[in-house]
Amino acid sequence: MRGAINNQKELSQALKAEAQKEGFNLVGIATVPESSRIKLRNASLQRWLDAGHQANMNWMRSPKRKTINNLLKNVKSVISVGLNYYIDIKQSPDSLLIARYGWGKDYHKVIEKKLKKIGKWLEIKRPKCKWRVCVDSSPLLEKAWAEEAGIGWIGKHSNIINQNIGSWVFLGHLICTENLEPDIPAKSLCGECKKCIEACPTGAIQEPFVVNSNNCLAYHTIENRDEKIPTFIAKKMGPWIAGCDICQEVCPWNKKTLPNTEEPELQPKEWILDLTADKALSWSDETWKNKLSQSALKRIKPWMWRRNIKASNKTYT
Ligand code: SF4
Ligand code: SF4
Repeated sequence: MRGAINNQKELSQALKAEAQKEGFNLVGIATVPESSRIKLRNASLQRWLDAGHQANMNWMRSPKRKTINNLLKNVKSVISVGLNYYIDIKQSPDSLLIARYGWGKDYHKVIEKKLKKIGKWLEIKRPKCKWRVCVDSSPLLEKAWAEEAGIGWIGKHSNIINQNIGSWVFLGHLICTENLEPDIPAKSLCGECKKCIEACPTGAIQEPFVVNSNNCLAYHTIENRDEKIPTFIAKKMGPWIAGCDICQEVCPWNKKTLPNTEEPELQPKEWILDLTADKALSWSDETWKNKLSQSALKRIKPWMWRRNIKASNKTYT
């Protein structure tokens, strides 16, 4: 859309068109002050923290997460975007398993770059507008805002699901001081299903929407900095050494034919598709550093890869 944009409806539509042009598959808008839905999500986050389900992820306690105004003064609107990272490829049958989010380049960087471009576009259209990009590591209740902006609902496994492209979706947010037209919040379509809860090998989904990180393979393989993986977790790891996709793989919303990501930066690295324990255990720290450059998986340090690989290779019991 060229030239002046006269009203907020036009601006909202033009912003969404910019997001699509940047390659985002999903885009929706929510407004501030937040609805009662966000307040309820805040209350459940507090219950989750009080129960200690965050394990050692103490940054989850950041009080900034509770109020979006802490991230940007006078924030009025939240633009939620989703980037599909699904690709119709499987790792080789003998490979150690790595969660799909880590197959391509670091999604934080990919999304941040795109959202900054949209922020700059917005600044040209509305020079007084202030904006800020939030991707995953910012203290924003991002799944709740994505649901509020209508791009998907929070499934019982706690990931965002969109009815057209499933849950293999990276989220990003652009928050700004401009009033925009809100979208209708998403409604849960999980219904009576509990496939993710039943499939989780460690029982980490303690009840719908409540994932206890202390029992989750994704937490232990990526975030746990202890020298040893707890035995009860190691017994259930199977071949998963970096994250775990089981609860998403079994979800009926991911079982239909899904579109492949068109994002060149998210195409899988070759070494990830066929990684044997022998090969990976022979790599020096330097080799790991090279393999993990520009990858979100570099959060897993070389010693943690070795620890995870040694703990894995068990069958589910
Ligand atoms: S990521 Fe794996 S371990 Fe964690 S809740 Fe999902 S299925 Fe369970
Ligand atoms: S597996 Fe079923 S319950 Fe779990 S997130 Fe998917 S639809 Fe919801």
